Amino acid sequence: MSKRRISIFGATGSIGQSTIDLIKRDFDAYDVVAVSGGQNIAQLAKDAIALRADVAVTADESKLAALRAALAGSGVDVAAGQAALIEAAARPVDWTMSAIVGAAGLEPGLEALKHGGTLALANKESLVTAGKLLMSTAKAHGARVLPVDSEHSAVFQALVGEDMSTVERVIITASGGAFRDWPLETLKDATVASASTHPNWNMGQRITIDSASMFNKALELIETREFFDVAPEKIETIMHPQSLVHALVGYNDGAIMAHVGPHDMRHAIGYALHWPERQHLPVERLDLAKISQLEFREVDLARYPAIGLAHEVMQRGGLSGAVFIAAKDAALDAFIDGRIGFVQMAELVADVLDALLPDSGLIDATMSLDNLRQTTQIGAEHAQSWIDRV
Ligand code: NDP
Ligand code: MG
Repeated sequence: MSKRRISIFGATGSIGQSTIDLIKRDFDAYDVVAVSGGQNIAQLAKDAIALRADVAVTADESKLAALRAALAGSGVDVAAGQAALIEAAARPVDWTMSAIVGAAGLEPGLEALKHGGTLALANKESLVTAGKLLMSTAKAHGARVLPVDSEHSAVFQALVGEDMSTVERVIITASGGAFRDWPLETLKDATVASASTHPNWNMGQRITIDSASMFNKALELIETREFFDVAPEKIETIMHPQSLVHALVGYNDGAIMAHVGPHDMRHAIGYALHWPERQHLPVERLDLAKISQLEFREVDLARYPAIGLAHEVMQRGGLSGAVFIAAKDAALDAFIDGRIGFVQMAELVADVLDALLPDSGLIDATMSLDNLRQTTQIGAEHAQSWIDRV
């Protein structure tokens, strides 16, 4: 059998490293074309050599010399910068992992879709800001997008063999993050350090803080809307502290199909890697008797205002996802820098949405990269002036 050609964008991150772990376990099956990273040159070089990649790209141009030195004599080509990332994504492969964090992930992902094949999509921001553009690009080039976010992989698996017209509800579970049991009035005093630990998952700092505020869940609701094209009113959120049921799909005969699995992103990554087959994965096998109970409870919208904001964005559509992410990212930066408090993040985002969503010239503009950039910038400027005012 010929080897599968693959590329991994965001290889040095949490998802990238889990992907590499799976690839290394069955290395003879793969031919690694491109790997990318940002600041972590040592890791990028080490993986590029171990995976015998054709090219290693750092997003940061100032790191090119360091990458070149680290890979001297290895036979791996080196490149740097956003244009180089896009060039690397244009190299034909059968499977691409999109695991760059943030808006920077969109263009390499779009480029990868243009050679067909499969895009395993971890990068949330591209679906939330540009879901329609991503899906239409995939369609135009006969490419396939597979979800990597655990909830969306779960929905995807619960939908296998079903007719979308029979789906009544898609239920996304939320652990509630670091502060789920804190008294509501103490949330305003939450520190960056306390928001940066997740009760169940081990992830990067930004996504962990976004879990504590449920902005991560908010993004996932919008991702659900974009990926599966389900109406916003069919998308529900339920608190599930154990994070073992990742999502559920309810059908018109009253049946609910739930996806249950361990907290290990290698499951969703592996599913996307081997789809449509299932293959053995090195993840924990759940002992249900030991777990003994699965808990579900209603989401308290006062504790988690981000969920209500996500519904506003889903209803509004157009470029509202770009405003949402721009405001959310500015709020998160300001929280990490100590400029605003934890609960102010949602206040900021709500005010920016109130100011910009009614602007149909902005929100209903064509979904092009230029318009997305412009909308993001306007969202970020609004958020910045909010931060400067408080
Ligand atoms: P990490 O922060 O761990 O890794 C991000 C990766 O992107 C690293 O390789 C980093 O390089 C690279 N990177 C950072 N900035 C840029 C940039 N401007 N241009 C190009 N590359 C850049 O993130 P995660 O792996 O946790 O998450 C990746 C994506 O997957 C995110 O969109 C996240 O929301 C999503 N996701 C993550 C989950 C998880 O469990 N971690 C679950 C579901 C979705 P370097 O580190 O070398 O600087
Ligand atoms: Mg998730």
